[in-house]
Formats: sequence, C-alpha cells, structure tokens
Amino acid sequence: LDPEEFRNQAYKVVDFIADYYKNIEQFPVLSQVHPGYLRKTLPQQSAPDDPECLESILRDVDRFVVPGISHWQSPNFFAYFPSSSSTAGLLGEMLSTGFNVVGFNWVSSPAATELEMLVVDWFGEMLKLPKSFLFSGGGGGGGVLQGTTCEAILSTLVAARDQKLKVIGRDMFSKLVVYGSDQTHMSLQKAAQVAGFGEENFRVIKTTKSDSFGLSPTSLKMAIQSDIEKGFVPLYLCATIGTTSTNAVDPLDSLCEIAQQNRIWVHVDAAYAGSVCICPEFRHFLNGVEKANSFSLNAHKWFFTAPDCCCLWLKDPSALRSSLSVNPSYLKNKATDSGEVVDYKDWQITLSRRFRAMKLWVVMKSYGVANLRMFLRSHVKMAKLFEELVERDERFEVVVPRNFGLVCFRLSFSEIDKSNAMNLKLLERINKSGKAFMTHAMVAGMYLIRFSVGGTMTEERHVVTTWKLVQELADEIYLM
Ligand code: PLP
Repeated sequence: LDPEEFRNQAYKVVDFIADYYKNIEQFPVLSQVHPGYLRKTLPQQSAPDDPECLESILRDVDRFVVPGISHWQSPNFFAYFPSSSSTAGLLGEMLSTGFNVVGFNWVSSPAATELEMLVVDWFGEMLKLPKSFLFSGGGGGGGVLQGTTCEAILSTLVAARDQKLKVIGRDMFSKLVVYGSDQTHMSLQKAAQVAGFGEENFRVIKTTKSDSFGLSPTSLKMAIQSDIEKGFVPLYLCATIGTTSTNAVDPLDSLCEIAQQNRIWVHVDAAYAGSVCICPEFRHFLNGVEKANSFSLNAHKWFFTAPDCCCLWLKDPSALRSSLSVNPSYLKNKATDSGEVVDYKDWQITLSRRFRAMKLWVVMKSYGVANLRMFLRSHVKMAKLFEELVERDERFEVVVPRNFGLVCFRLSFSEIDKSNAMNLKLLERINKSGKAFMTHAMVAGMYLIRFSVGGTMTEERHVVTTWKLVQELADEIYLM
C-alpha cells in the first residue's frame, strides 16, 4: 500500500460517492433489473489477469453495478426500516477501515476495545439505561458492538441456555422453552434453530389488533403456566419495542414482572425504535428495561451509522462470556491474565471483529446529542404528516396507531380478500414507478403497506410528493 497512491485514488472514490449522493434522486429507488442481469451484461466473465485502473473500475461500477442497486439512501426510500447514512457515519467508517485493526482482545488494539466501552456507555446514558447495564455503573454490566441483532439474540440465548442448564442439569435441554410473539422478528426463530431448539421448544404467542399487536402479559402467563404443567422449563423471552411489521410495542414492564417470577431471561429487541428513545418524549417506551437481562438496538438502522453496528447491553455479561469464551494458548497475553481488561472476543460469536466504535464515536461527536434528537424528531414529524394525509383521504385507512416513524396504511374495502388484492396491486405500482419504494406486511390476514421514514436526505417535500403518487396510482386502480 503506497500512501500517496492511496491519497490520489481515495479522492477519486470520494468524488464518485459524493456525485452518487448528489444525483441519487435520478435513479429508480427500487432497482428495476431482472434476476441474473449482472452476468448477462458484464463483458468480463472471469477475474482479469492484468490490473485495471481505478477509472475503468469506477466506470464499470457506474454502468453495471449502480443499475442493480436499490437506493437505500434515496430520499424516496420508505421501505423496510431505514439504514440511515450520514457524513459522520461514512467518515467514521473510513477511519475504521483505514486503521484496519482486528480488536478481538484488548492487547490486539487497546483503543478499539476502550473506545467501544466508552461509546456503549455514552449511548446507554443517552437512553437513560439503568446503571446496571453500563461499565461506569461498576456492577459488572456493560455493552458490546456486534454486527446484527440476529447475533445479539443468538449470543444472549446461548448465554441464558447455559446459565440455566448449569442449575438444572444439561440433560434438561430438551425441556427449555423460548418465547416470542407472532410479531417478533425472525431473528429469534433463527437463533433458536442455531442454538439447537426444536419446534417443541419454541412458543409463538398470538397477538391481536385490539392489543395493537403487542404481546399480552396474560397470554404470556397462560403459555408459561401451560408449559410448566407439561414439565417444560421457561427459559427466554424476546420482547420487542417497535416490531418489524407494525412498530408494535410489547408492554415491557408487565412482561418483565412475569418473566422475573419465572426466572426467564428477557432480551429486549429495540432494533429500530431504540434509537429514538434518546428523546425524552419516547423514553417511556423503555420503561421496565431495568428488569430485563439484555437490551439491543441497531445503530445502523436509525442512528446515522453505516451497517453493521448492533449495540447490545447486558446486566451480567459474565453469562455471555462463560458461553462464548475460548482461550487458546496463541492468544494468551499479560493483559488478559491481569483480569483488568475486556476481551471482546468473549462477548460475541466470531473472533475477528471490526472497529465499529470508531464510526459511532464520530457520529456522536460530530452531531452531538441535541442534533441527533432533532434529526430523529424530524423523521417522526414527517411520518406524522404522512399519517395525516392518509387520514384525510377516505379511501384509505391507517391500520394501527403510529408510534415512531412508520405508518401502516391501506386502501380499505369491506371485503378482506379484495382489500388485500388491491393493496398488493397498489404497492406493485408504487415500486414499479421507481419514484418511491415501500414494503408490505401481513398481519392478522391483512395486507398493509408500510411507509417508513428515516432517510437522512428525506424532506417534507418528498413525503408530500410520494403521497400524491400514492393517490394517483389509487385513482388508476379504482378506474380499472
Ligand atoms: N429485530 C427487529 C425488530 C427488526 O426490525 C430487525 C430488522 O429489521 C431485526 C431484529 C434484525 O436485525 P439484523 O438484521 O440486525 O439482525
């Protein structure tokens, strides 16, 4: 690596990316290519023998890759949940990639570990997490930056499993039960599968529209009761703040009470909505977290930090370490032996890890808490505006009360099958237009359209224009 060559080339890549952002509204938000497009269009069918210059590579990116990109950073991207980019997030990512350190233990790069300990504490303080989840609390709690929520759930589930089996005996594994609702993210099911739980050990508790699709404490209590009567041992509950389909909020406080009575590990998955809880007016959604065992959110969703960056806090990380720690002789070192350092390899499934703390630190320092709150509030305000526009058109309904930056809406017909078919048609037309991208959810047999605001470049005018597009396409559907 020649530093001067890097300098020259990096400027060109930065220019390319800056131009991409400048022109991003020109592209269809949802890529319109067909499966297999790349091999069919790319002239080169195998890796080149000779080197190519950066200009030629960027030309290929432009011609062949960009058409196959769905533009997540477009201001008209309203699909899934956001993956909010920011200047600070991208620059932090550059620094992290630039240093290219692999901080699996303290000695392998002390700053990577210590900066991580610092930013998870800063974030925890912003969220007003109880001291018991923070390093600065001094009670043994702390946080870690993992890749994704899937990993956070899998690692905490494995910790809970091993902790319980130590008490009741390993031969009781087949009796352990994992609980979630029919709105819990598939991460829980995946984690349970990977951790060896069979279908008979996995409970999906049904939610209802009357509970706004939140997990009912009564239903949880009944499921636990029934399991205990059958000789099962309740183990782990995943409660969600801001479910994927409709942003439902599980009543954390009551669920944790029940879990505590039954010695169940509670993990709180706030992958998307957790970030907005740094605003005092949203903090109440986390009430009860003090009784949970672990809590996670994705900074790469709604905290202006590029993927991947899942923040996981635990009251008792020793449970995690006891399941995930392996200490081969080639990693032995004095710092670890002193017991004075955190070795993050013991807090995650993989050994190698990225310097994720850098980008989160740069985001926090560049914007400051007041601005971060302001950005998040502006997204919620835009979602509220969209919700009001939907409510004003009597052909549409808002399906569930809006909690954060997601509006679930649909064309409303008395017949459910017709309603589902018409909304499917409407969504297909929205996305085919290339002018906006939204996704759907299916809840209680209802097909609904999700409008999720969180793009850094999204402004009110994009929301209003997109709503007009929805209305025009609805007019066409009515005329058919
Ligand atoms: N939990 C919730 C509530 C989510 O909405 C999502 C993704 O959208 C996830 C978990 C999965 O996150 P990850 O991709 O980081 O595993």
